[in-house]
Amino acid sequence: MNLLSEVTSVKGIGEKTAEALHKAGIYTVRDLLYFLPRDYENFQAAVKIKDLKPGKIMIKGKISGLSTRHARKRNLSITSGKITDETGSIRVVWFNQAYRAKQFDEQREYYFTGNYDLRAGRYQLTSPSAILAEDVDGALPVSNSAVSAPTASFRPIYSQKGGIKPAQFNKFFANLRTLFADIPDLLPPEFAKSGKRAEALYNSHFPDNDREAREARKYLAYEEVFELLLAAQLSKQENVKLKAESLKFDAKKTQGLVKSLPFKLTNAQRVATWDILQDLEKSTPMNRLLQGDVGSGKTVVAAIAAYQTYSNGFQTALLAPTAILATQHYEGLKSLLEPLGMKLALLTGSTKHKTEIKTALKEGKIDLLIGTHAIITDDTTFQGLALCIIDEQHRFGVAQRQKLLLKTARNTKKSDSNVDFAPHLLAMTATPIPRSLQLTIFGDLDISVINELPKGRKQIKTEIIKETSQRELLYPKINTEIKNGHQVYWICKNIDDNPVLETTSVKRQAKKLQEIFKGKKIEFLHGRMKPAEKDEIMERFSRGKTDILVSTTVVEVGVNVPNASVIVIMDAENYGLAQLHQLRGRVGRGDVQSFCYLITNAENEPTRRLREMEKSTDGFHLAEVDLKLRGPGEIYGALQHGALDLRIATLSDTPLIAKASRDAKKLAQEFLQNEDSMVKYKELMSGISHYQQLTTLN
Ligand code: ADP
Ligand code: MG
Repeated sequence: MNLLSEVTSVKGIGEKTAEALHKAGIYTVRDLLYFLPRDYENFQAAVKIKDLKPGKIMIKGKISGLSTRHARKRNLSITSGKITDETGSIRVVWFNQAYRAKQFDEQREYYFTGNYDLRAGRYQLTSPSAILAEDVDGALPVSNSAVSAPTASFRPIYSQKGGIKPAQFNKFFANLRTLFADIPDLLPPEFAKSGKRAEALYNSHFPDNDREAREARKYLAYEEVFELLLAAQLSKQENVKLKAESLKFDAKKTQGLVKSLPFKLTNAQRVATWDILQDLEKSTPMNRLLQGDVGSGKTVVAAIAAYQTYSNGFQTALLAPTAILATQHYEGLKSLLEPLGMKLALLTGSTKHKTEIKTALKEGKIDLLIGTHAIITDDTTFQGLALCIIDEQHRFGVAQRQKLLLKTARNTKKSDSNVDFAPHLLAMTATPIPRSLQLTIFGDLDISVINELPKGRKQIKTEIIKETSQRELLYPKINTEIKNGHQVYWICKNIDDNPVLETTSVKRQAKKLQEIFKGKKIEFLHGRMKPAEKDEIMERFSRGKTDILVSTTVVEVGVNVPNASVIVIMDAENYGLAQLHQLRGRVGRGDVQSFCYLITNAENEPTRRLREMEKSTDGFHLAEVDLKLRGPGEIYGALQHGALDLRIATLSDTPLIAKASRDAKKLAQEFLQNEDSMVKYKELMSGISHYQQLTTLN
């Protein structure tokens, strides 16, 4: 048996069990070994109910009398019952876990682990985890001696997977115990002592204590991140083999453009611009992410890059996630770049003369095409596309970004004769991404950061408002803002009223506000409207014709209305920090004092998240907090899937990721100098090919 053997070669795994394991993605012995325990539990720590002291506790007992009731106002379900052992009984409560009421067999014993403390005048066990006692006790190694092994009670707990019970996994690993010594190293000796991997895997499944288990996991997490980042590094080296147009920097021309701006560039903008203009001069494609908080002025940096491309006789494509945003870019950039001789065109779903524009594009009569990514279809051909800018890149995700680029490259006439040709890529995002995530999601990109806002911007004042008791106080403030000629965003969670969700809807809110703010112009906007209709509403708002725009989060991305000075966010506790910060960035874009009101429904104290919003306007700080509070999946999950699919590592472990990144870079360098040395690390290379498929260009 070796790592690549089928799971059926493990004692105790027959055809049927194997089938169940396959469903869970476990095919080989290696897959099985990497199915790590979800937790460890010291079952000897279970105490009798009569001896309970407040704090984190474990008891073994039967459960009875479970029922669930709903506290409708607080959006809460409360499931409670009684746990009994031979010495007494205690109350148990779960919040918002209504399934618990049906989960237990009253005839059987369970281990319960959780916090036992005083709540509303009585002691109770709150939201404990539970595990069937016979699964634990039955799987304990049978000992012939009267004294059981001292480690037997410190046991790994596996998740149920593919219908296979946790305790069965304990048995599989017990049967594999002798194999562990033979597990080969994964990484070269300069990165990990020989035998380290075997030891870490062993200690994950058979730890003597908590410390051993934690250290083992930490090492395996390091290996995992190492693989991911090595994949990114190797993709990057592949990318270097591609060719791009070298776009020469012309100091005089660039200065001419910069001088024509109505403002002075910030230092951070200068540094980022310089990074980019230097990249454009190279004959390998730029692959750079420009990160800058909302309002930090990324667009003008992109404009300077497009101008350098034009000065060299080539075309630029600027892709935005929505038609509204594309239109706004078009209008802003036209007034800046057309006086310098550039020809711009806008292409969105609702553009009238598509064919003319496409013909002009093919003939090289358009220098900068702005549109949504949907416009890059097979019949959009450029004469000489040399730069592709993707705005609000976080909306696209890694895989999509690469596909888009590839398609764009194919759509250049030049690429027909030269398959290795690719445009330079500048991806921009206003979602501040913590350093550890940057490395894992964008490990193959160079990154520039604009970490400074233009001078003169006033800090947005943020305040938490309790819906029930303080909302009325808000109205005079809003009236004053409108009287002073400013505008208001009013964000709601839903479009329509929904009997199940208690969050506010756009439609009802708009009606209600019309009664409160009589005579004011109020409109609403949501994602289910036709694009043309949305555009019109947005247009009226940006021309100052609307006082209050009631909207769902469709206004989140990039929209720029400097005259808007207030944003009210209903049901604010329902959003993550990153999103709240994005929403808040809709105001404070001009030089007027702006306000953000977070309306919360909760009767409880405002959440930590809302308090952080009140305290800080630093997007990077908020992103770090969000990562800690909610984990990366919640925040970036659906968008960046693939790179975040880590099984072991925690993305908030910044030092570990930084070390893995340095080490992976070193190894990638060695591989570059000596390609043959890759062959020595077969398992490593096959592991990373999985990641590379997600990020590579070709
Ligand atoms: P974002 O980074 O969110 O895309 P924008 O590029 O839309 O930000 O810029 C926001 C606003 O700030 C725009 O109105 C832009 O003209 C203005 N702006 C950009 N750079 C500066 C600067 N250095 N000084 C003053 N205003 C600036
Ligand atoms: Mg922008």
